[in-house]
Amino acid sequence: MFSKILIANRGEIACRIIRACNELGVKTVAIYSEADRESLHVQMAEESVCVGAATNSDSYLNMPNVLMAAVITGSDAVHPGYGYFSERQNFADSLQALGISFIGPPVEAIARMGDKASAREAAIAANCPVVSGSQGIVEDADDALAEAERIGFPVLIKASAGGGGKGIRKAESAGDFPKLMRLAQQEADASFGSGDVYLEKFVEKPRHVEVQILADTHGTCISLGERECSVQNLRHQKMIEEAPFALLCEEQRHEMGAAAVRLAKAVGYANAGTMEFLMDDSGAYYFIEMNTRLQVEHTVTEQVTGIDIVRQMIKIAAGEKLPMAQEGVRWTGHSIEARITAEDPANNFAPSCGRVTAWEPPSGPAIRMESHVYAGFTISPFYDPMIAKLIVTADTRDNAIDTLRDALDSFRVEGIRTNIPFLRRLIDDERFRSGNLDTSFVPTVMSE
Ligand code: ADP
Ligand code: ADP
Ligand code: MG
Repeated sequence: MFSKILIANRGEIACRIIRACNELGVKTVAIYSEADRESLHVQMAEESVCVGAATNSDSYLNMPNVLMAAVITGSDAVHPGYGYFSERQNFADSLQALGISFIGPPVEAIARMGDKASAREAAIAANCPVVSGSQGIVEDADDALAEAERIGFPVLIKASAGGGGKGIRKAESAGDFPKLMRLAQQEADASFGSGDVYLEKFVEKPRHVEVQILADTHGTCISLGERECSVQNLRHQKMIEEAPFALLCEEQRHEMGAAAVRLAKAVGYANAGTMEFLMDDSGAYYFIEMNTRLQVEHTVTEQVTGIDIVRQMIKIAAGEKLPMAQEGVRWTGHSIEARITAEDPANNFAPSCGRVTAWEPPSGPAIRMESHVYAGFTISPFYDPMIAKLIVTADTRDNAIDTLRDALDSFRVEGIRTNIPFLRRLIDDERFRSGNLDTSFVPTVMSE
């Protein structure tokens, strides 16, 4: 086992990983920006290193500084969390060159699956259904338009290096297409340092269903089942996620799990990863991308399987075998996660920063909180607005929804605005309760 792990992230996920390290008896190093001196993750870790000024590019995305922090603290492994360096091939490469373990997949797997167009090709080769789309990257405007017409409008123009809901444009018709294609390329270049885009047929009223997998370096690869993540905001960012997907039949659960495992094996995957699929209203499903990292919503899978995914990631990176086979994975109950953000629903979800004067999160046997916030902490404008994840678990979906409603009602936050009132509205909605929803649910509620 490693003796010291540096956590190359901040916020709730840094706290989550530090806790897992403590349980394994591994020492921890936090990194932080000048704006994050007072952060909980810094207080929780045994050592901490300031890696730069407040902005992400100066600190958490300052690769030389983060690598140097790992070297000077004598860390033997780095956990990247999600976002930041978690899917950066050159970060994993550089660590390898320094003799430090990257707690994530092999560099080759990031290269193959981190790029969405290439992941799509890998899925096709592994006989995993994909949405109809372009063959790889489209460059020339005329060729792209011809491709779009062949696929049939509406089409999505997607950044191959995209993530976090960014870099996706919808073209309704051939008339809009050339302009949107140019915009998408420019946007992709500005946000991800690569202007590569590809095309995908727009699936009408889709559900987002993803499969969590775990693979060790000894040839065992298992599915931990699916999560339903169709409750997404206007920017395709997930707001509420659950496991299992209540409307999925046993046969389809098995089939999707097998497809995800087949694809992971085909690309020599190891560690934790997620295959994302869209499901149309006929129940047909299509692979859209793989996230070669820990996901925000890994918690709900942990709740229903009893498997600690972060702990397994660390053990896999240390060369250990998975302690369970596919037959050993059992699902119990229903779990729902709500992402709490410092955004004001009454003001068009504008970020709400400042000092948190009161912070009284709900608690109880059915409730799990993942957060880095405490009373007196200041939410700064430099980072992602997510300030907590509220996870509830019950025997049935209905009971989990009731628990979530009560938990949101008793969550007291003062000093800043949060999306809690909006989440409350979503879970009160009959369409959410029935489970009969798709990715247009939130946009529809907002327009009502
Ligand atoms: P990201 O890397 O930003 O997560 P994804 O490819 O996973 O991008 O897509 C994010 C979301 O955008 C999906 O969950 C879905 O809501 C929507 N989306 C993506 N591709 C399609 C598609 N072909 N048809 C309809 N919606 C899509
Ligand atoms: P998922 O894990 O479901 O794919 P996202 O795509 O929303 O969820 O998560 C990745 C995004 O999370 C990144 O693009 C980044 O903007 C954001 N992110 C990275 N680190 C953090 C953090 N510590 N807290 C909150 N958000 C973060
Ligand atoms: Mg995605």
